[in-house]
Amino acid sequence: MSSSPAALVRQFHRAFGLDVRSTPAQVPPQLAAHRGELLAEEAAEVAEVSVGGPLDHLAHELADVVYVAYGTALVHGIDLDEVIAEIHRANMSKLGPDGQVARRADGKVLKGEHYRAPDVAAVLRAQGWDPEADDRGRPAESSDRG
Ligand SMILES: [Mg+2]
Repeated sequence: MSSSPAALVRQFHRAFGLDVRSTPAQVPPQLAAHRGELLAEEAAEVAEVSVGGPLDHLAHELADVVYVAYGTALVHGIDLDEVIAEIHRANMSKLGPDGQVARRADGKVLKGEHYRAPDVAAVLRAQGWDPEADDRGRPAESSDRG
């Protein structure tokens, strides 16, 4: 069994009867909100120990954030490894062809002419996402209810 975060979190979700989807899709709003709250809680715990530590607590909370993020992706049927690979590709395209990094005076990396932004929608479509089906599943906007 692989020890990648995605595989470990999948094992956890299966063992505890939590949602696992294999195709990207919207989930019921209550479940989506719950996942967002879990992630916000873990991010807040990172913030609490970021400066004062101790380091083992920071490592623990960082791992919790990643674990919950992978779980949230799994609940939504998203292969997060593929999305991360796309973000990485885009970030690496900030490098110039000469391998040089262009920086602003304050140190921020600038996007050069070879930069290609991440196309996360394309990654999700390749995983089977149907954005139009998701739109049909959304509650009507308030203006439609008159
Ligand atoms: Mg935690």
